[in-house]
Amino acid sequence: ARLANQIAAGEVVERPASVVKELVENSLDAGATRIDIDIDKGGSRTIRIRDNGKGIVKDELGLALSRHATSKISSLDDLEAIVSLGFRGEALASISSVSRLTITSRTQAQDEAWSAYAEGRDMEVKLKPAAHPVGTTVEVLDLFFNTPARRKFLRTEKTEFGHIDELLKRIALSRFDVAINLRHNGKLVRQYRASATQVQKERRLAAVCGNPFLKHALAVELEHGDLKLSGWICNPQGARAQNDIQYCYVNGRMMKDKLINHAIRQAYEASLPSDQYAAYVLFIEVDPHQVDVNVHPAKHEVRFHQGRWVHDFIYQAIQSALHQGWH
Ligand code: ADP
Ligand code: MG
Repeated sequence: ARLANQIAAGEVVERPASVVKELVENSLDAGATRIDIDIDKGGSRTIRIRDNGKGIVKDELGLALSRHATSKISSLDDLEAIVSLGFRGEALASISSVSRLTITSRTQAQDEAWSAYAEGRDMEVKLKPAAHPVGTTVEVLDLFFNTPARRKFLRTEKTEFGHIDELLKRIALSRFDVAINLRHNGKLVRQYRASATQVQKERRLAAVCGNPFLKHALAVELEHGDLKLSGWICNPQGARAQNDIQYCYVNGRMMKDKLINHAIRQAYEASLPSDQYAAYVLFIEVDPHQVDVNVHPAKHEVRFHQGRWVHDFIYQAIQSALHQGWH
């Protein structure tokens, strides 16, 4: 979790999707294999995330809400200050300071569940008994209710939900082993089933990227020393309708990186008409010592120590996948 903290540092409570991101990452950190996300009104009214992870013991529930410099957070009237501060491992406390947040949890060792919520300007944490299976539910109501300027910046319900949906697509592609259900205004919108076999994985790929992508997908697989590339690229013939599908993960973390993008584009160049974009879902595994993922936490950039080499490796892997696709 410490590493996740470091990377999450610099993230901001910008909109409902940023809240969902922090909460779902907490659920994943807790070892959840199933996460249920309920959204109302694009997240401005309700964000509720339930997981079956290991839960939080009663004694630490309050801590989770108030730990580190909670007093610092609660004395900040101005959300901008929180933004510049970043989370620094204070996601729950930060979110709690700009919403009505309740966290309910039960561990395997406990017979009963407990709910915690912070109240008033000093954000005093209250605990009460609750009913809940092993795992955790975080409910965030009325996001930005006490920061009207920030609330005013929320876009339409549809737009905000779209950001949440897109975020969960990225997460769904990084954790095939976790079941994720997304509801909006009571309606089940996405149902990503836990998938282990190749067939199941392709089913999730289609659920996230659409059937046309799967239909035109070419498998990519190349390994060399510490470096491994796998995933799918869209056959150029099928790329036209797939412009927005560009997912790239480095050691399981979503990245948007110039070097990677450039290598992919270049490999595609010969076969892709100039008005089209490459479509891909790619996973790069590399020795963690060979990569620095903390360059720009918010921008999802990486720095490879041997950038040139990684670039050529990706180029090669994609070239050969494209060639195999033609036979
Ligand atoms: P961080 O994740 O950076 O430690 P957070 O504010 O996001 O900080 O969470 C605070 C702590 O609360 C976590 O370190 C973890 O111990 C606990 N926690 C939060 N969400 C969950 C969850 N869904 N399941 C189990 N523990 C959780
Ligand atoms: Mg966290």
